[in-house]
Amino acid sequence: MKAIRFHEHGGPEVLRYEDAADPQPAPGEALVRVRACALNHLDLWERSGLPQVPIPMPHISGSDVAGEVISSGVAEVPPGRRVMLQPGISCGRCVECLSGRDNECPGYQVLGYRDHAGGYAELVKVPLQNLIPLPDHIDFVSAAAFPLTFLTAWHMLMVRAQLERGDDVLVLAAGSGVGQAAVQIAVLHGARVFATAGSAGKVEQARSLGASHVIQHYEQDVAGEIMRLTNRRGVDIVIEHVGEATWAGSVRSLARGGRLVTCGATTGPHGTLNLNALFSKRLTIMGSYMGTKGNLLQAVPLFFSGRMKPVIDRTFPLADAAAAQRRLGESEQFGKIVLEV
Ligand SMILES: [Zn+2]
Repeated sequence: MKAIRFHEHGGPEVLRYEDAADPQPAPGEALVRVRACALNHLDLWERSGLPQVPIPMPHISGSDVAGEVISSGVAEVPPGRRVMLQPGISCGRCVECLSGRDNECPGYQVLGYRDHAGGYAELVKVPLQNLIPLPDHIDFVSAAAFPLTFLTAWHMLMVRAQLERGDDVLVLAAGSGVGQAAVQIAVLHGARVFATAGSAGKVEQARSLGASHVIQHYEQDVAGEIMRLTNRRGVDIVIEHVGEATWAGSVRSLARGGRLVTCGATTGPHGTLNLNALFSKRLTIMGSYMGTKGNLLQAVPLFFSGRMKPVIDRTFPLADAAAAQRRLGESEQFGKIVLEV
């Protein structure tokens, strides 16, 4: 098959479009012909290299995949069936998996990350339980753009932060993959959503997703604006994934009893915390990573019925994966960047 692989860490230039061996599915695994694969920041981290995270070389990235089943061994998902893939891979047998917390499985992996070859390729193999059949009206590009970011945002809002109707929610960087998903999920569940965006164009796009107020984060003081817009109260929930550049303002934006949930630190891993504010305002700071297979299946009907829709920034052919990663790395996008295979 053709695939995009890297043989060493570095910038987008290390990505090579080349021949690779076809994946060989084991019993209990399906072989899928990839039609679309969305990019995530995870792809950039592993290409650049992370201390403490060995990546077997050569490596194929890609966690968000839609395509057609080639072989599965089970009648419910026959060859030709259109599917999207659960990005979380777990053993299915341990206490965490069987208690509905498969993202806490000791063997948990993300498709396309570390040991598991992903969707920057014509073919990929996954466990059968990772197949989600697609209805005919959902195209491959939209399907590939959905799983990882909507799963992440759903787990942050609905499981970790326990979103309730009427909550005020601040979503950082509404143009990011997690941001556009979080705005839509929060609005659908009756929240008033404040969002931040990096340019005038992105402000309009965030409003069109349902955000009530959009703050330009390069020009305005986010916490100051949140306090002004909420009559000095602050918000119940902050959805963080930016990290060092925004952390202090995110904590200052919280109301009494507020919950901050973070799933990433794209601008750096260190943030300070005012402990007086933490206890006196009874704040809760939570981490979140991916979500359960059940969480994704809870979000899927809202996608298939058209009530949530992943925003597509633009598509690139598989061979142009380096250009696609450059665009993501420069934060030029609003929504998901997708490779067509
Ligand atoms: Zn397990």
